[in-house]
Amino acid sequence: LLHAGKARPCLSVPKVWCSLSPLSCRPALTRCPQVQRALLSLTLSLEKLQAVKCRMLEAMEKGLSQETHAQATVHMLPTFICSTPDGTEKGDLMVVELCQSHVRTLFVTLLGDGNQSPQLMYKIFELPADMLQGTGEALFDFVAQCVQKFLEEIGNPQHRLPVGFVFPFSCRQTGLGKAELISWSKGFQCSDVEGKDVVQLLQAAINKLELYHVEVIALLNDTVGTMMASSWGGKPCEIALVMGTGTNSCFMAEARLVEVVEENNGRMCVNSEWGCFGDDGALSDVLTPYDHRVDQASSNPGERRFEKMVGGLYLGEIVRHAMLMLATEQALFVGASTSALGSKDAFKTQQVLEIMDNETGMAKARSALEALGLQPSERDCCRVQQICRAVVSRAAALSATGLAAILSLMCRSRELERLVVNVGVDGELYRAHARYGGDTQGSWLGRMPLGMPQARPSPSSRFGEILQSVAGLLAPECAATLVPSADTNGLGVAMVTAVAQRMLTQRHEVEQLLAPLRLSRADLERVQGLMRQEMERGLGRDSNADASVRMLPTYVCNTPDGTERGDFLALDLGGTNFRVLVVRVLQEGIHMASEIYVVPTSIMQGTSEALFDHIIECIMDFQTKQNLMEQVLPLGFTFSFPCQQLGLDKAVLLTWTKGFSASGCVGQDVVQLLREAAQRKQVGKGWGPLPSPPAGATKLHVPISCLQHLALKVVAVVNDTVGTMMACGYNDPRCEIGLIVGTGTNACYMEERKNVGTVEGEEGRMCINMEWGAFGDNGCLDDIFTTFDRMVDEKTINAGKQRFEKLISGMYLGEIVRHILLAMVDKQLLFRGKPSLKLQTKDIFQTKFLSTIETDGLALQHVQDILRDLELDASFEDSVLVREVCQTVSLRAAQLCAAGLAAVVEKMRENRGLAQLAVTVGVDGTLYKMHPHFSHNLQQMLQDLAPNCAVTFLQSEDGSGKGAALVAAVACREPSP
Ligand code: ADP
Ligand code: MG
Repeated sequence: LLHAGKARPCLSVPKVWCSLSPLSCRPALTRCPQVQRALLSLTLSLEKLQAVKCRMLEAMEKGLSQETHAQATVHMLPTFICSTPDGTEKGDLMVVELCQSHVRTLFVTLLGDGNQSPQLMYKIFELPADMLQGTGEALFDFVAQCVQKFLEEIGNPQHRLPVGFVFPFSCRQTGLGKAELISWSKGFQCSDVEGKDVVQLLQAAINKLELYHVEVIALLNDTVGTMMASSWGGKPCEIALVMGTGTNSCFMAEARLVEVVEENNGRMCVNSEWGCFGDDGALSDVLTPYDHRVDQASSNPGERRFEKMVGGLYLGEIVRHAMLMLATEQALFVGASTSALGSKDAFKTQQVLEIMDNETGMAKARSALEALGLQPSERDCCRVQQICRAVVSRAAALSATGLAAILSLMCRSRELERLVVNVGVDGELYRAHARYGGDTQGSWLGRMPLGMPQARPSPSSRFGEILQSVAGLLAPECAATLVPSADTNGLGVAMVTAVAQRMLTQRHEVEQLLAPLRLSRADLERVQGLMRQEMERGLGRDSNADASVRMLPTYVCNTPDGTERGDFLALDLGGTNFRVLVVRVLQEGIHMASEIYVVPTSIMQGTSEALFDHIIECIMDFQTKQNLMEQVLPLGFTFSFPCQQLGLDKAVLLTWTKGFSASGCVGQDVVQLLREAAQRKQVGKGWGPLPSPPAGATKLHVPISCLQHLALKVVAVVNDTVGTMMACGYNDPRCEIGLIVGTGTNACYMEERKNVGTVEGEEGRMCINMEWGAFGDNGCLDDIFTTFDRMVDEKTINAGKQRFEKLISGMYLGEIVRHILLAMVDKQLLFRGKPSLKLQTKDIFQTKFLSTIETDGLALQHVQDILRDLELDASFEDSVLVREVCQTVSLRAAQLCAAGLAAVVEKMRENRGLAQLAVTVGVDGTLYKMHPHFSHNLQQMLQDLAPNCAVTFLQSEDGSGKGAALVAAVACREPSP
């Protein structure tokens, strides 16, 4: 057995019916060996059923896969229905059904009341027989005229009427309302339709009658209708089985499984077309001689083998062939046969079902056999009853293998331990003696308010019992509840149309909401041009003061060449963590040790003294722990805020960013502030005890004796972008750009010194810290900002500043998403319009959620888990939409980043007079490193925007620390000019 665990069936019972169905006859009860053999051949062991289930699962996977879809026997056709009714469906709609002998038109009004009281009117038009073989135009004109007549009868409603078109032929569907007919079947052969879009053909015919308000929005499959019609009250049905004359099924599959459709988000209803299962021989070991005869006598031998064992059209035939062969073997009717028994379709499935009945079955058997001109004995009747039961039980058990395959597929792809699901079932086999409702004779107008749920036929048919219990054995990890469908009046397809209409309306509103966030290539080219313009202004001596991109000289003029050696101390301030490091640069590589220290918000937003005192205390703590008290190592200070550098070790803070705002720092040289703090520590407070650290700060243990050793030799102040470039440059000499996409975003690159108007000197290059986060602060990006961006900006401590950064970096993306989600809730597009209090909390939606939610192949379950933590009860459709919002926001961020980088690499290429530039970008930042698509999107867009530059991306490992040490090392190697 495939599935260990609970509900493990007893393996010692070889024939499943013995234990399963007390109503079925045990083969052992028959003494006649021929009859016994016949019954055995129709009886499938649990092991065999398990094997058939596995083959069905394989066939389904083959149908879903892009590569094997074309050859698959089980086609697994996408229906583009991505949702089940949620009760908000509202308004008038129409359904037009093209059937074998008639056209049915339906008019349905939904009140948005949870579909409690849908109003439905319908009319049936007989289809003239010559239509089936005529022109396509005549056929569609006729259908359109039916629509026109129907509308006249119901009072000519003039508002827009969305139409669902039920067209039960094999179609290549590429969208809700886009489906080419592959080939006619069921006696239809109209000219000029195959290969054409049938939705368009119907719409054209309707337009000819000037019914422009009637809009065909979707092509529908009737199986989906069964699923939707069963989705009443309580839980929606996500699987439907049709067990009628033929057999088919559909279910809500994870969209990513449906490889023939590009969409990977959410779910889509898949029409399995499982009737063809076995056409490649997958059923050969369960076929009986009777099945072969039924198949040979059919109009399509070799095709639809599964349907021919399961479908109502064939069960009577299987029984008839079994009787014929047993009669030949003298095991029935004392060897007599009649011409009636030998003629096709003489024994009906309806009779088979009636004969199964415990009480009246024997009498039914007698009259049915007598009607064939036979003179059955009591024993004959009993044997025929046994055969009927075996054939129907087998059909039910085989259906169960298909159902179990679907259940296991769903459970596995949703990554659930246990799947609980409702299964809508329709068809005469399942409903036993119930008839199909709906009068198909003549033309009449029906009108009925449908108080749902209607009284339904009881599901307790033998077929249903076996189906349910065998599916339970074959897929013990799933709990399926069979729900009889009441779709006798077309309500199901009407619901599909309603869902399609809701999907279209919602899509339209979502598109409108997200449109401002979707940047065109032209937008991005413009951003690139503006960035280039701002770069030039930032570099110019006179224009620098007004530029939003400051283009700050760093006094770093060389990238590492690999000859650097020595031990260095490094500080990294300006990211999420403050760190102190010791870096040892050796011939064989770089070794580092570091400690992380917390900078509490009270210090980030306190005073200059408190901040730098805290830093000194951390350094002292580190030196103590690392036994470095006796040495005075050269120190590189990564300080990731915009600074006006006057030399490598002289940096005047221009402005705080990323949540820092300590007073008394802007306008000061940060190296000086650091030295003063060290001084204070040595003299100011004398030799007294350390001030107690502020709440939340790391408790520091610094022996007083080490204070006297505290001497700092600050060699260089470095921006983290520069550190990253240098760290990567140590491994790749082509690394001449540094990029950060973490809490904030920024970049640096090697500029020709002669272009740097703000520093004397013409020779060589200098690294420029662009401070591109402030790009747009002068208003040049205003038309790119959305209302969501403005809302995020307004609530920051530096409103109106760092506008480019606020579109791109980790500190803000989650907030942008949160504001979009709130807007969608407001428009009733999400969470059924119900916001949670939590979602209204600033910063509650973290940027790392985007990384998780956007992970490829992530089960929607996990998205729902994240949302549940925010007290949001998300349906799977909500989860899909949230994922789309995240994708939109992170894609825009990556593309804007690419536009900025494109300006940089193109400028470098022009600077150097090259047709092609090959350059490496050293990158750091958790967003870049952890987001599943950011780097790919960035690189792809960059290649598109700067095709003449071959740009390689190298992730830095601990660039800020290593880089600061390397700047110090390079400086020690050859003192900067
Ligand atoms: P910094 O830029 O401050 O040096 P990081 O590079 O670690 O620090 O970036 C921190 C930012 O990364 C935070 O703002 C956070 O929102 C974001 N972040 C953290 N984890 C993830 C993740 N898994 N995916 C995307 N972003 C993340
Ligand atoms: Mg960092």
